[in-house]
Amino acid sequence: MNLNILVLPGDGIGEEVTREAVRVLQHVARKHRHTLQLTEGLLGGVAIHRTGTPLPDETVRLAVDADATLLGAVGLPEFDTAPPERRPEKGLLGIRKALGVFANLRPVRAYRALLDSSPLKNALVEGTDMIIVRELTGGIYYGTPRGISGAGAEERAVNSMVYTRPEIERVARMAFTLARGRRRKVASVDKSNVLENSQLWRRVVTEIAAEFPEVALEHILVDNCAMQLILNPRRFDIVLTENMFGDILSDEGAVLAGSIGMLPSASIGARKPSGAWVGLYEPVHGSAPDIAGQNKANPLGAIGSVAAMLEYSFGLKEEAAAINAAVEAVLDSGRVTADLKPAGAPATTSQVGDAVIEALS
Ligand code: NAD
Repeated sequence: MNLNILVLPGDGIGEEVTREAVRVLQHVARKHRHTLQLTEGLLGGVAIHRTGTPLPDETVRLAVDADATLLGAVGLPEFDTAPPERRPEKGLLGIRKALGVFANLRPVRAYRALLDSSPLKNALVEGTDMIIVRELTGGIYYGTPRGISGAGAEERAVNSMVYTRPEIERVARMAFTLARGRRRKVASVDKSNVLENSQLWRRVVTEIAAEFPEVALEHILVDNCAMQLILNPRRFDIVLTENMFGDILSDEGAVLAGSIGMLPSASIGARKPSGAWVGLYEPVHGSAPDIAGQNKANPLGAIGSVAAMLEYSFGLKEEAAAINAAVEAVLDSGRVTADLKPAGAPATTSQVGDAVIEALS
């Protein structure tokens, strides 16, 4: 397969973890005989330094041309007080928009070696393996009317939770398609006992489910889902939800897995003529200025993002599974960075990259 990938290392530890992720990608591509076409672009603070803007037009062009984009992290403390259009984070929102990615996927896996760093009892969290599919471009964060008006006792604030049928259909189809390749279960989260918006969500998701008879659908209210994620996270395979509920639930899911440095994410858009899903893959963490440039950052979230990219954008499940297994082997071996509190001396970012490549070999 020809894998045409744009790499945007970004700022701080973004550069360090992406370097290791790319090495792993190159290794897997060689081993499985895929042709890798890698391009590198500028995003975030580094782009502001070189071009004056956090998202240069050239980066948008490269991202649109690529099959998938691998991103490190953006953010530099020197821009913390800069106006919004000159902030690195503006580049992140801009590239998501330019690519039209409408679903955010957060795999949540409980690794054996990290069970003790989960706030839950080991027996509860062991075996957890789900993907939270969050709608990313609609709902209350974008709906109009919105705003604050009036003054004194008359002051009021309005936000609107708006979804159209096509917006629900496309993200639901993506969730069911993913479920088909997994344990074939979708839990669709809403608040249909109170919100009309959720009633439409539930009706449309039920209709889409009919296209996937092999996948079991359950509807679950968001408050119950928040509770079940803690009481019995193993019961979930795909959790499908709208934007704000997903924002909250995916952070709840994140703590099940241990360190923030471990977590990959994928933002997915439409299918390309080549069959690949347009995708932006990045670790959940930021640029971590406190440890940047010290070869201390955990690269496993970035490496997991490569696995997600191979699986979701290219359908290369075997390669993705090999990377995930290598990550698990490295965790078991204890050759991990300081954030995972190894028993002995912590490994460096590049040593963890080496360890993953060794495990893959
Ligand atoms: P952060 O995720 O960068 O760091 C939070 C804490 O977690 C820090 O102590 C850091 O050292 C640690 N950490 C994060 N990733 C780690 C890793 N891979 N290995 C080991 N430790 C890790 O969040 P923050 O400090 O709130 O933000 C720093 C900058 O990153 C800000 O400019 C923020 O806007 C930006 N940010 C960017 C993204 C993104 O690019 N997607 C996400 C969040 C924050």
